[in-house]
Amino acid sequence: MLLIGLTAEHLAMLDAWYFAMIPALSQDSTALTNYSHIDLHSHSNVSDGLLTPAELVQHAAAHGLKVLALTDHDDVAGLDEARQAADACGLQLINGVEISVTWRRRTLHIVGLGIDPEYPPLVEGLRQIRAGRRTRAEGMAASLQKAGIEGSLEGAYRYARKGIISRTHFARFLIEQGYASEMRKVFKRYLVKGKPGYFEHHWASLEDALSWIINSGGTAVIAHPGRYDMGRPSMLELMEEFRALGGKAIEVVTGSHTEAQYQEFARLAKMFGLQASQGSDYHGQGLSYMEMGRLPSLPAGCVPVWQNWPALAAAQEQN
Ligand code: AMP
Ligand code: MN
Ligand code: MN
Ligand code: MN
Repeated sequence: MLLIGLTAEHLAMLDAWYFAMIPALSQDSTALTNYSHIDLHSHSNVSDGLLTPAELVQHAAAHGLKVLALTDHDDVAGLDEARQAADACGLQLINGVEISVTWRRRTLHIVGLGIDPEYPPLVEGLRQIRAGRRTRAEGMAASLQKAGIEGSLEGAYRYARKGIISRTHFARFLIEQGYASEMRKVFKRYLVKGKPGYFEHHWASLEDALSWIINSGGTAVIAHPGRYDMGRPSMLELMEEFRALGGKAIEVVTGSHTEAQYQEFARLAKMFGLQASQGSDYHGQGLSYMEMGRLPSLPAGCVPVWQNWPALAAAQEQN
């Protein structure tokens, strides 16, 4: 679908013609009505969160959650520990991952839910992304050094410990060294495009990420679509390409969307016959966009991605 160069009026007409052809999803009458105990996006210190996988699960349970997906960036190494902790406190854990993707020179995050963490192409794909993260970290450190900031590679790795290395770890090092007072500022000054610590990197393709997730038995979800800096034509093309590749859902309610974006993405989900997901994107105190257990309801008309999931039926019975 080529949408570049079309006016708003053309787009409105396309909305009417094109989207009428996409079959509407049917809503299962047994779907849960109270969803606040479901959180399908969170991070442990295997990626850039602060809590260990077990601490994260305990934190979730203490905040009233019954269903939690652990979705570390490009790594599934925390799932075993999280599952043990979840079993011990009666919480349903969904095996998840958040895969870094490059699509048309932009970085996107694709969440996989209900994946098989041992599926070999997924394991190998994630291993390659993590190797790429190490090379990128060296590039970021060299670039920061040119700007007069020494020791950032070692400094960032001190926060990363055994898991992936990410911009969040560089951010924590830069704050520690007094270059900025808080996360938002350190990203804005040092770690985004055009700033000294930004290093262009090529992640997995959308096609590969979706094939790893889907062929491992999982459901692919576009994470926080409101965070991508793209106009409406690109967003529509992304949704269409994602759907054509077998993608099933988009995050509608997430810690980094505004209320207006809940409505906007609920509408887009409906137009493309995609289900809706929700998650806090919790990273830990001071790092997260939202505390756990505080997600508002999905807007009316959304079909929850967890509709018909057996794990959810069990959680509902316990309510
Ligand atoms: P990376 O995948 O290494 O590029 O790091 C991306 C991570 O940095 C995201 O998952 C967020 O946790 C964090 N992040 C990105 N932008 C910001 C921001 N403006 N403020 C705070 N954290 C951010
Ligand atoms: Mn993160
Ligand atoms: Mn993300
Ligand atoms: Mn995330």
